[in-house]
Amino acid sequence: MDKQTTIDQLKPYQQGMQTHEVKAKFNLDRIVKLASNENPYGCSPAVKDAVLSAVNDLEIYPDGYAAALRTAIAEKIGVKEEQLVFGSGSDDLIGLICRTYLEPGTNTVMAKPTFGQYKQNALVEGAEIREIPLTNGYHDLDRMKMAIDHHTKIVWLCSPNNPSGTVIDKQALYVFINSVPDNIIIVLDEAYYEFMNDGDKPHLEERLDRYRNVIVMRTFSKAYGLAGLRIGYAICHASNSKKLNAVRPAFNTSSVAQKAALAAFKDSAFLEKTVTRNNVVKASFEQFLDGLGWQYEKSQTNFMLVHTPVSGDNVFDFLIKKGFIVRSGEVLGCPNTVRITLGRQEDMLQLQACLQQFDQQLKKERMTSDN
Ligand SMILES: *Cc1c(COP(=O)(O)O)cnc(C)c1O
Repeated sequence: MDKQTTIDQLKPYQQGMQTHEVKAKFNLDRIVKLASNENPYGCSPAVKDAVLSAVNDLEIYPDGYAAALRTAIAEKIGVKEEQLVFGSGSDDLIGLICRTYLEPGTNTVMAKPTFGQYKQNALVEGAEIREIPLTNGYHDLDRMKMAIDHHTKIVWLCSPNNPSGTVIDKQALYVFINSVPDNIIIVLDEAYYEFMNDGDKPHLEERLDRYRNVIVMRTFSKAYGLAGLRIGYAICHASNSKKLNAVRPAFNTSSVAQKAALAAFKDSAFLEKTVTRNNVVKASFEQFLDGLGWQYEKSQTNFMLVHTPVSGDNVFDFLIKKGFIVRSGEVLGCPNTVRITLGRQEDMLQLQACLQQFDQQLKKERMTSDN
């Protein structure tokens, strides 16, 4: 298929409803947005000063190399500065990776369901998409391996996976990487890295001398709470960062985003607090769902994929009228689920009351129809 035909068939990213739209449509005072895995606790207070200081130099181009941020991250995670590539969010990096390694006649392997931007960007480059269904909610590495052939250029691994929240076992991951020919790029998207249990983190950044074909992606959008500023980074062997930096637009991260990210990165106390609060909320929401008898995927993120007794759209419709925006799994390729970002405890308690009410109504309706 030629490029224009492919692009004509693509749909722009379908974002969740915006808060002001929902407010107006349902005549609500307050909305709790639990649809995009944003940080309900905001961001580090140090970010505000950093942003204000950046305001004095807005007429100046940013440092295209992001030197200050680069030094801080490289030092902290123990890689060479040249091994980092910055992007306007990991979304930008996904596009960059596709543009660098894919072309018509190549193919790329990914899970299904997983983060939608891998497929979208790969299609733009004219690559064939090979989607391997999750097995019991987890990446099926054996089947992904079998899908690889001489034309495969990229394998996408999302861990924790969006929308399931599940993590790839690190031993299985090492075995997989060792078994894949080293001319094939393996992307590990760690957008939720900070939320993972420490013992489950694969730390591929420490093995890039051996795993030259691995690209790890992280972002400031989720745990650091900077989704609105658009900044993320890739960690890889220098042979790949050299290519990606050559393809990258020179000024793809703004001066404001770089300064904010640096302030956020240095504030480990805020990050820790976010993760701790998230885990408390997660444990209590899991307990609630157990009580309700609804199944869910085991998440190491700030969201949960919850299996619902009816279509996810029905749950979405019920909740939105109450002021909660969640993501119906129907649009994410997971029928009969909703993906719920873990919000603040007080909001989650109200959400739980609504879910309880929904479940009771459902049981009542089913009883009446049985009689
Ligand atoms: C949110 C998300 C991203 C995109 O993050 P940005 O850095 O904001 O572009 C990438 N991958 C996954 C799996 C995500 O959930």
